[in-house]
Amino acid sequence: MSATTEPTAAAEPAAAAETAAEGTVKKTPAKLVFAAPRRAKPPRHLADLTTAERREAVAALGEKPFRADQLSRHYFTRLADDPAQMTDLPAGVRDRLAAELLPSLLTPVRELACDGGTTLKTVWKAFDGVLFESVLMRYPDRATMCVSSQAGCGMNCPFCATGQAGLTRNLSTAEIVEQVAAGARTLARGRVPGGPGRVSNIVFMGMGEPLANYKAVIGAVRRITDPAPAGLGISQRSVTVSTVGLVPAIEKLAAEGMSVRLALSLHAPDDELRDELVPINNRWKVGEVLDAAWAYADRSGRRVSIEYALIKDVNDQAWRADLLGRLLRGHLVHVNLIPLNPTPGSKWTASRPQDEREFVRRLEAHGVPVTVRDTRGREIDGACGQLAAATKD
Ligand code: SF4
Repeated sequence: MSATTEPTAAAEPAAAAETAAEGTVKKTPAKLVFAAPRRAKPPRHLADLTTAERREAVAALGEKPFRADQLSRHYFTRLADDPAQMTDLPAGVRDRLAAELLPSLLTPVRELACDGGTTLKTVWKAFDGVLFESVLMRYPDRATMCVSSQAGCGMNCPFCATGQAGLTRNLSTAEIVEQVAAGARTLARGRVPGGPGRVSNIVFMGMGEPLANYKAVIGAVRRITDPAPAGLGISQRSVTVSTVGLVPAIEKLAAEGMSVRLALSLHAPDDELRDELVPINNRWKVGEVLDAAWAYADRSGRRVSIEYALIKDVNDQAWRADLLGRLLRGHLVHVNLIPLNPTPGSKWTASRPQDEREFVRRLEAHGVPVTVRDTRGREIDGACGQLAAATKD
């Protein structure tokens, strides 16, 4: 692991974390960055605004408020990205409103496809040159968009490519929504094998810790799930927000009263190891974060997804499977085991198949539902923990 997160005024004091590699244990400082470095803000976009705010913005530009609804219909329902297609708006009005409310936010700088073209990773460049990524994955029965919530990440998990690059900045609501809209356009226009389709699921599992960019992420969830034409009209139940365990933010999310799924990246059932693998654990321990997760499950009625990257000889021992099983049994939960994706320069690797099978068997013996996640996108560095690897060159 290299702790490359730059100290900023917002940096939290380093917690002493231990990094296990090749059976050795080495002390390294793990810095957590909660507040993003100050940078210029992306231009305002229709998708940053609520319906009422859009009408106000249009009125402030000297136009009738109903024009805001027309713009929304083009952007969210018809997925238009060229103002010239918005022919129900007079040309002069259209150009002025588009310049003010539909600025171009994201430019694709690279697209990589694998799995026969059904997995598509896009590297985006924002207005300030910042790079981040999204991944579109089409399956026979659904199409999932994995979006980034931050450029980089301040949580410094040592096995994760994004964490090693540090946090550059928070994305705006519209920059997040635009990743989904771009995926929706790609599918609607039949650019993915299988014919024209729709995005059905959204996972906030790209670059960044979503709950560290709380306000923009909640705004994006609302825009994604608001019924058309106010938003993209995707069901809240089809949205998953992941976190490494920012307990106060999980509690705040529960209070929003939404039915999005919470995915908790646990990766270890004991504080000793989790302090190393997920440095935020130095702040909020396993017991606290699971309590917050169960409260979220109670409030939302949704099963919590426990994400657990299986790392050979680090967290894949049978006794840890039993400990995890004891912690989770009886709760509204599902475990996603993720075979660790190799990241450049990392000595850590995926568990042996027999250890993975034994881990699954022991969790099931405790009555805990478990699946092993597929490794979609691995060839293009689009799998979990690999995002950001490709943005460095
Ligand atoms: S695993 Fe998630 S929270 Fe941890 S550094 Fe990577 S992106 Fe950030």
